[in-house]
Amino acid sequence: MATIFYIVLGLGAFAAILLANGLTIWRLVAVPLHRVEVAARSLAVGNLETRVEINSRDELQLLGESFNHMAAQLSKIYLTLERLVDENLSMEAERRQLKEAVARDGLTGLYNHCHFREWLRAETARSLREGSPLSLLMADIDRFKHYNDSYGHLAGDKVLTSVARVIKDAVRVSDIAARYGGEEFAVILPNTDSAAALATAERIRLMVERTSMDIGATAPVHVTISIGVASLSSQYADEEFLIQAADAALYAAKKAGRNRVAVAGQR
Ligand code: GH3
Ligand code: MG
Ligand code: MG
Repeated sequence: MATIFYIVLGLGAFAAILLANGLTIWRLVAVPLHRVEVAARSLAVGNLETRVEINSRDELQLLGESFNHMAAQLSKIYLTLERLVDENLSMEAERRQLKEAVARDGLTGLYNHCHFREWLRAETARSLREGSPLSLLMADIDRFKHYNDSYGHLAGDKVLTSVARVIKDAVRVSDIAARYGGEEFAVILPNTDSAAALATAERIRLMVERTSMDIGATAPVHVTISIGVASLSSQYADEEFLIQAADAALYAAKKAGRNRVAVAGQR
């Protein structure tokens, strides 16, 4: 009987020791490992501020410290990448602004001569490739010298900016309005045949004629423009011909009395 009692007592003591050891292993190993595992999952979904705290003064504490070090390094790399992306985006925006500014005429804000030529080359090539119509307007302010001579060059500049604004407002956003030179303007009309280009030119001419311009003189002034129209055809099949044809039509409009539109190849 006593023997059985001692065996049961012994087994009980053994079970108690096993339980105590199990609890110790659970507290010292399983709990810290679980913490590292939870932190690793949190880091994996992007919570870069995740850190783990283990104060066991053993290898598991070292594991926790290594994890925290890795998380700190990842945060640093992420912040650096974020800064580089931001810098790159703002440099790209600046580059685009600069490119746009270089393409513009400083006085009127329309595209400048150089950019106009680039556009015309590209649009001519596209039109020939796709078989779509393309027209060009060349406009020149009538008797512009008179405004400079009578009111001064600053007043002349105001006339130029006013005419430029009217032209810009009169055409579609897909059209390309440019200052060709001094008081000459050019408008590229993609997908526009001769009849539609003539109608556009007439509309611009009329709008300029009707616009009252405040140029600092005693009373507002009215200016007129003459416009030459040319369209891409088998006869005018490249951009040089197109410019020459529009220019010749413009000259014809001037010769015919100014404040009118003339179409290339028509008398
Ligand atoms: P037309 O009807 O035959 O076109 O006569 P016009 O007086 O307009 O032609 P002309 O070519 O004789 O005169 C153009 C004037 O444009 C001469 C030039 O001083 C002036 N001009 C050119 N560029 C500018 C500019 O940027 N500002 C000002 N204020 N004047 C300019
Ligand atoms: Mg002129
Ligand atoms: Mg001129």
